[in-house]
Amino acid sequence: MDQTLSAYDYVIVGGGLSGLLTAYRMSQHPAFKESTILILEPQSKTGNDRTWCYWESGQGEWDELLTRQWTQARVQHHEEVCHVDLSDYTYKMLRSEVFYGFIHDRLKHSPNIHRQVAKVQHLHETADGVLVEWGAGKTTAGHVLTSVMGLHQAPVKTSDRLLHQHFGGWFIQTKDDAFDPEVAVLMDFSVPQQDGVCFMYLLPTSEREALAEFTVFGPRPWTAEQYDQLIREYLSHRVTDYTIVEKEMGSIPMTVYPFERNNTARITHIGSAGGWTRPSTGYTFKLSTDYSKKLVDQLAHSQKPKAYLLARHRLYDAVMLELIGQNHALGADFFMRMYRLHPIARVFRFLDGRSSLREELLIMWTSRPRMRLVKLAMRRLLGM
Ligand SMILES: Cc1cc2nc3c(=O)[nH]c(=O)nc-3n(C[C@H](O)[C@H](O)[C@H](O)COP(=O)(O)OP(=O)(O)OC[C@H]3O[C@@H](n4cnc5c(N)ncnc54)[C@H](O)[C@@H]3O)c2cc1C
Repeated sequence: MDQTLSAYDYVIVGGGLSGLLTAYRMSQHPAFKESTILILEPQSKTGNDRTWCYWESGQGEWDELLTRQWTQARVQHHEEVCHVDLSDYTYKMLRSEVFYGFIHDRLKHSPNIHRQVAKVQHLHETADGVLVEWGAGKTTAGHVLTSVMGLHQAPVKTSDRLLHQHFGGWFIQTKDDAFDPEVAVLMDFSVPQQDGVCFMYLLPTSEREALAEFTVFGPRPWTAEQYDQLIREYLSHRVTDYTIVEKEMGSIPMTVYPFERNNTARITHIGSAGGWTRPSTGYTFKLSTDYSKKLVDQLAHSQKPKAYLLARHRLYDAVMLELIGQNHALGADFFMRMYRLHPIARVFRFLDGRSSLREELLIMWTSRPRMRLVKLAMRRLLGM
């Protein structure tokens, strides 16, 4: 059945994190009250397809939706244990099903925002708008905001190092008390280091429940069985008698590729496809909440969306990715030193791209191997 929809001012392709955030910000901004907006998403987005964690100083916009928050953390490598008092920061966990439900509810109050189940196949830009096509349907848009990689951009081709933060995780329940729910284990490098920088990420939500995730910064994602085997092995030394309640798996590109270059006059990339993922960490949630606000303000003022990451942060990330890409055995020491030698607020500001130049130089100065890092930075600056 042919399904040609009337024209929209804005079409949002992908109703995941960045698409829903952008629609929500538009629903709250007076400049878009009269705009017609369509979200195209193939999935119902009612279940929990991922669990987001992020750090934040003080109270935050999504606090009422959180599953859990932690004020203490740990980073460790065998017997070297670094206890981190998060100070003004809190590490927060938000299940995507709760977030999707909240935004879908809010959007119901905006009659100018529509949702349609559709897997978009083509975007064709003309002088007057963008033709958006899916299955048997199509529409035209004044402007498209898309979080779908590869739909209107060449696959990422870059001479920069491309790694993936890839992971498999289990939500487990134990019969007896097994965890300290006050402490989030952000990185435990006491695992086999194979095919990348590997660590366990262990987030206890109670004495008997936790998310245990085997994470790798490496060249290529693994099969589910590979993560399963290493999680099983890790837990076997620490927990007995547990059941797996839920599993998750994912892969996030880690690259300094300038995604914003794929934007055109009428097509803007958002989310990971728009460079809203911090290349050196894979963290995206908090950046997306901030960048979606900036983007909607820029659209309201008819400004061209800008690259968000400062050039010098891109340089640090490029150097870090190159270092661990060349020699993943250096990764554990790199991160352990950062958490051990610096106040957590400085580390988080650095990872958020909000640090001062002085703070960045301090972090660089204490990183090892220092000469290798300097050489990599020089080579990049000189375009070698
Ligand atoms: C399992 C998992 C856990 C993660 N955990 C964290 C975390 O703890 N902290 C953090 O900061 N980041 C995390 N991330 C990274 C990042 O936050 C998420 O990937 C985030 O969802 C990215 O947002 P996005 O809008 O770019 O993509 P998505 O949220 O994936 O949205 C893209 C949407 O586009 C839809 N789509 C695909 N093809 C089409 C098409 N042809 N037409 C229309 N729609 C289409 C998809 O169905 C999807 O809903 C995690 C990622 C995964 C996969």
